Amino acid sequence: MSGKIEYISGPVIKAELPGATLYELVFVGELKLFGEVVRIQGDKAFIQVYEDTTGLKPGETVVRSGEPLSAWLGPSIMGKIYDGVQRPLKYIEETSKTPFVARGVGYEQAPPLDLEAKFDFQPAVKVGEEVQPGDVLGSVRETELITHYILYPPLPQNAPGVVEWVAEGKYKVDDVIARVKTKRGVVEVKMWHKWPVRKPRPIREKLPPAEPLITGVRAIDVMFPIAKGGTAAVPGPFGTGKTVLIRTLFLYAQSRIIIPVLCGERGNEAADALHGLLKLKDPTTGRSLLERTTIIVNTSNMPVAAREASVYMGVTIGEYFRDQGYDVLVSADSTSRWAEAMREVALRIGEMPSEEGFPAYLPTRLAEFYERGSRSVLLGSKERVGSLTIAASVSPPGGDFTEPVTSNTLRFIGTFWPLAARLAYSRHYPAIDWLIAFSRYVDTVESWWSKEVGSDWKYLRGVFQSILVKEAELQEIVRILGTEALSEEEKHILNVAFMIREGFLKQDSYNDVDTPSSPLKQYLLMKAIYTYYEEGLKAIHSGTPAMVLRELESAKRLSRLRMEIRNDVAKEEFAKFIENMVAEIRGVQKR
Ligand code: ADP
Ligand code: MG
Repeated sequence: MSGKIEYISGPVIKAELPGATLYELVFVGELKLFGEVVRIQGDKAFIQVYEDTTGLKPGETVVRSGEPLSAWLGPSIMGKIYDGVQRPLKYIEETSKTPFVARGVGYEQAPPLDLEAKFDFQPAVKVGEEVQPGDVLGSVRETELITHYILYPPLPQNAPGVVEWVAEGKYKVDDVIARVKTKRGVVEVKMWHKWPVRKPRPIREKLPPAEPLITGVRAIDVMFPIAKGGTAAVPGPFGTGKTVLIRTLFLYAQSRIIIPVLCGERGNEAADALHGLLKLKDPTTGRSLLERTTIIVNTSNMPVAAREASVYMGVTIGEYFRDQGYDVLVSADSTSRWAEAMREVALRIGEMPSEEGFPAYLPTRLAEFYERGSRSVLLGSKERVGSLTIAASVSPPGGDFTEPVTSNTLRFIGTFWPLAARLAYSRHYPAIDWLIAFSRYVDTVESWWSKEVGSDWKYLRGVFQSILVKEAELQEIVRILGTEALSEEEKHILNVAFMIREGFLKQDSYNDVDTPSSPLKQYLLMKAIYTYYEEGLKAIHSGTPAMVLRELESAKRLSRLRMEIRNDVAKEEFAKFIENMVAEIRGVQKR
């Protein structure tokens, strides 16, 4: 089960390691650094090492673990901050700016779960009851915000069976809490189990992405919606707001469980993002958001290869909570750093480079990652549904969206929220470029909006979109020929487009009247702008100049309304506003 290092090349080593299997977890050198077998050639294994290889020498020992890199899944996972191989970070904000684990610290010294803590286990099944893999056997109250459901784990060796005994009361994570009698013998179920991070957890059936994941951000929910179990990518140049947008999702998206994977870019970026996350409060209860969050962060002492482990660790933990019936949000910020790690490792193990030096398997890896997002009917004997939504950032060098990571990502995602530098510079946040953004979920989430909020939701957003497209055309004409070349109707369209941008798409993440915006407020704000457009058109057709419409009191107020009307009074306030506005427009029309 062990071998010797032959050579070392940055984060990659080659070792004589007979019998090793692909993606097996190994421990490298005297320090026992975490590594994963990524290529096998006869008796030789190429290993990507998840810790700094400085000082490692040829001839040192490599020990096989006999199993793939796996996540430890069970109570005490919530609120933890892990590195890519799930070692908990002793995070001391006062004394250290960067999260850190000493090299070679193993699971014996730093177990991913608190093995000593006791949890109050409440059974959900009775003796004699039949259970299948995936069924809930019981639960523990993990934090004030989260009940942790203990499953009959969907492990290959767990056959359906009958509950022979089930616990009730205080137990440790590693204690047996149930015995299930199966055809193949009695299974002793503990509160935790391991799952290989590269292997998607099984589900019974994927469901269509029909329910929107409401985020409270209008540019998303109305214009480019994401569905529960959907996937989204946020590409953008440095400083355009990728991290802030993802943070806004953590706070306000209707996901019960949040799993941020931080793959930092420059210097302290991951550490800074971590500091930001730790301060967040759950908006409905005011408690720490950490009570329903598990963070994976690439520590500054981990080399690039660890980013790969982090990404897989994050989605695996996400799937585990999905399997408990939760709506989960997994984010990776940024997937470009992961792809760069893939490139570096591929070159060192002698893979043929493809586009811009990335390995030919880059598209496959991205596809497999996004594939793990879904809304599904879960395993087990009861009809239960859970979802895992993925929102990831991409940082294309120079903001070039045609580069391989962005262009390949585009093929596999449902929603595209590209951020534009020109918008960010003019402080239009979120800087989503409405001319190139898209969502494949508009048709599937429409019935939810029609039923819950307003039947013309899709029609109105279509009008908004065409006005914005028209604006871009008209601006081109104005640039060449000047405003005089426009008809009054076209001038009106430019006014309305301005209102859509200023009064609707712009949204300050830090303003608590503006963010989050409830679905009803989003819809009514859209309706108000639409009514201005429609009534304005009628006025124009009866000879009122566009300028007059632009100078109306209600027109000026309309672009500020998002910061004036609170969610809880939206219904009455918007009704009043729209009534007054229509009266004002008709007033000028008579003259
Ligand atoms: P990126 O991750 O793309 O490099 P950041 O998310 O760190 O960029 O954003 C850079 C800065 O832009 C933030 O510190 C903030 O000042 C501003 N910003 C970005 N998005 C918003 C937003 N939605 N609301 C208000 N300010 C924002
Ligand atoms: Mg960032």
